[in-house]
Order: sequence, then C-alpha cells, then structure tokens
Amino acid sequence: MAAGSAGVALPGVISPGARAAAAEITVLKQVTVIDGSGAAPRRDMTIVLVGDRIAWLGRDRDLPDVEGVRALDCRGKYVIPGLWDMHTHGLDLVDIFPPLYIANGVTGIREMWGYEENRAAHEQIENGTLLGPRAVVGSSIVDGPVSLLQPPVSHVSNEAEARAFVRAEKALGAKFIKVYSYLGRDELYTIADEARRQGLPFAGHVSYRLSVLEASEAGQRSLEHLFGTTFQVSLKEKEFLARLAATPIDPESPRDFFNLARELERQAMLEYSKPKADRLFAQFVRNGTWQSPTLVVNRVISMPADTYIHDPRLKYIPADLKAHWADRIQLFAPKTPQEIQEQSVYLASRIEMVGAMHEAGVGIIGGTDSLNPYCFPGFSLHDELGLMVDAGLSPMDSLRAVTSEAARFLGLEHSTGTVTAGKFADLVVLDANPLDDIRNTQKIHAVVTRGRVIDRAQREKLLADVEAAASQPPASARSATFARLAKQGCC
Ligand SMILES: [Zn+2]
Repeated sequence: MAAGSAGVALPGVISPGARAAAAEITVLKQVTVIDGSGAAPRRDMTIVLVGDRIAWLGRDRDLPDVEGVRALDCRGKYVIPGLWDMHTHGLDLVDIFPPLYIANGVTGIREMWGYEENRAAHEQIENGTLLGPRAVVGSSIVDGPVSLLQPPVSHVSNEAEARAFVRAEKALGAKFIKVYSYLGRDELYTIADEARRQGLPFAGHVSYRLSVLEASEAGQRSLEHLFGTTFQVSLKEKEFLARLAATPIDPESPRDFFNLARELERQAMLEYSKPKADRLFAQFVRNGTWQSPTLVVNRVISMPADTYIHDPRLKYIPADLKAHWADRIQLFAPKTPQEIQEQSVYLASRIEMVGAMHEAGVGIIGGTDSLNPYCFPGFSLHDELGLMVDAGLSPMDSLRAVTSEAARFLGLEHSTGTVTAGKFADLVVLDANPLDDIRNTQKIHAVVTRGRVIDRAQREKLLADVEAAASQPPASARSATFARLAKQGCC
C-alpha cells in the first residue's frame, strides 16, 4: 500500500493505477476469518475494506500502516459475515429497532409486513440518513376476507382482487408477497400465479386451506413458524386436516380457528411418523421450499406468560410496547401445569424436527419475529442461533443459516452472506470463536455495516442511546401503523 496525494494505491487490491481516498479504507489485521461459506476458519488474515465493499483479503502480516488509513489490530479476534434476521417487523420504530439490529451485528433483515412507514425507514437507511440494516421489505400481509390481523392487513376475496393486490404491491416496491393463514385456496393459487408473472417470490404462513405440501408445490418460497407442517408429518394428518377443512372461520371470533389449528398441530406432533417426515422433507428439497422456523417466537408462546418479565433486555423496549407484550402474551401462553407441560413437549419436538429437516437437506433460515412479545430486535437472533444448535445444527451450519444461506434464499449471494472480496463490507468482529460455542456470537468486538466500523465505544453509545430513547414517553417517532402492529401483534 502506498500513500500519495491523489489517495492510496492498492496494487492487487483495487485496479492497477486506481487510488482510493485514505478515509475510505479500513484494514482489519490478523483476524481469524470464518467466512460463512462453511469453509474452515483461516487464521492470521488481513481484510481491506474500501468504501462499502470488501476489497481484498489474504495473508499479509506486513501490510504497512498508511497515514490516514484506519487499521484495526484484530489479533485474537474472529470475523464473521454480518447476520441476517430473516423474519422481522417494526423497522419504523427508528430510534429503537434499527440501532438494536446494528449493535447486535444484524446488518440485514427480511421485513415481513410492508407498509408506508417501514418502507420510508428503509429508504432513510438506504440514503444514509439513518443507521440501520439492509432490508428486504415484503408486501402488505394478504389474508382472506376474515383475518386475525387488523389494518394495514390486506383482504382478498376473489381472484381479481388477488391479482390486483400482487400488481399493486409490486408497484410499491415489494420484494416478495407475504401470504397469511386465512387466505382461500383459489386466492392463494392466483397469488402464486400472478407473483410468478410479476417475477416476485411469495412467502409467509401456510394458508390453512392448503396443506404445506400443496403450498410447497405451488411455489411458496418459505414457510414461517413451522405452522401447518406438523400435520403432514403426522399419522393423524387426514383426520386433522379434514376437521380444519370442515371448520368455518367465524368472523365474530376469528382467533377460534387459529387456536383450534394450533392445538391440532400440537396433537399431530404426538403421532410423528418418520417415513412421512422423510417424504415431506424430500419434497421441500425438490421444490426449493425453505423453512423459517422462528424458534424464538415459538419458544416465547410456549412458555408461561411471566417467563421474560425480568429479562434485562427489556430496558431497550419502550414502556408502551412492554405493556402490549405483557398483555398480548396472555393470548398464547400456557397457564395450567398440564398446558405448560404439553407446550414444553411440543416445543422440544419442533426443535428436534428442525434438526431432521436440516439433516434431510431442507433449506433453513433464521428469524425471530421481532416486535412480537419478547422477541428482541437484534438480540433474539443470537438466541435463534442457539436454538438451531439445540436442534442439532452445528455452530457452523447455524451461522450459515443466517449468513450465506440467507443470502442464497434472497438471491443476494453475489453481494452478501460471506466474507468475500467484492461483497458488501457487512461484518461482525467477535472476541471469541463462535464455532467453539455459538453463544460467542454475542461477544461482539465491533460491527461493520456498509464499510462503517462501529467499534466497542460506538456500540455502547448506540445501546445507551436506545435505552435513553426507550425511557422517554411514546415519541413522535412511533408511527400510527407501528402502534397498531405493536398493540395487535404481527406474525
Ligand atoms: Zn412475523
């Protein structure tokens, strides 16, 4: 590296003869690289970042210090790709959610319910006026004429509405169509068809008017929360699906149907059939259907309501949101000793099933459902990693699920997901090896987002600022839509 008046020449790093402004360059020196591809860690590597890209990495202990170029001594540190939380909500609470993602090394998210205010937050992040993660923002949630959700959910009752919905969301910039539990069969198939014509994937909850296999065959790209899946791995499949098919959704009390489905899903798991599971998982692989098990939120709703009331991370959550969480969790949480025991068994069996899916080659992505009760923006993705390891994924495969596999799912593998020259400079520098213990992803030394280094002191300040913002009365930063989602929940 050589400094010059016109900038820094980086032979072999940037094109011959080209120069980069010194202030645009960061060098991470002598770090162990776990690149996210699954390749073994490489020790003693040097990484050169130029602008928002990884320009070069290699073994060069002797790369000289150049005036004006920031060099970080990373001896004893580990670098991994920036993490992707593949199931989030609430990006538009701009003084809380975006900084919590970045402070936790989550440099990318898949936002599962698009609306005007979170699209605006995404735009602010893209134009550099707000520090936050890259976001792949989906459509409005589309459901049948009756829904568990209140506005801004979109309802479609026929094929014409379903087609118009897809086109309108494409025009608004949606990167995928988010489908939901109470969509009718015909409308789901129409959405699948129109989304294909428009070049958009569709993803989300399985419609309870289809089996997960039918949704997979129709091209649904990801299935969220494992909903519906346990029917198809169960000896009770036909009986339970017939019972659901015969049950109308009561507009006066739409949650009854959902509660019935959840209870039947639990009972279905008690009759788990490995041959059926093997067949289903092979079909997921063949159809390219990914699983987004969101074990974090599944764990929250499987535990007694007071499980998280003393969680230290609540200091980052504003009082009104905390109150909504405490209220809303009552809808889901088991209460009697028998219910608690049943939910505990059910949770463990689903975690085990995720391991079996992974073993069978089914694509797994990691998401948290942040904004729902006790799903903490940023922090909870590290819990999801731990749960994937509990499921039987190796620490390496768990990491891949939220880095390179996430990128592959999104079709962004050429720009993100691994520590590779040419890709975005989104990185997490750790104090300890995450392959020894996946909890080491929480030992964050620094975060790099779009080439910008958030060092220890800046990270602490980010967190302190969030804590201060959370202690304020509900602010103008709270959009009306966010407030509605926080109150009703989202999924
Ligand atoms: Zn969700």
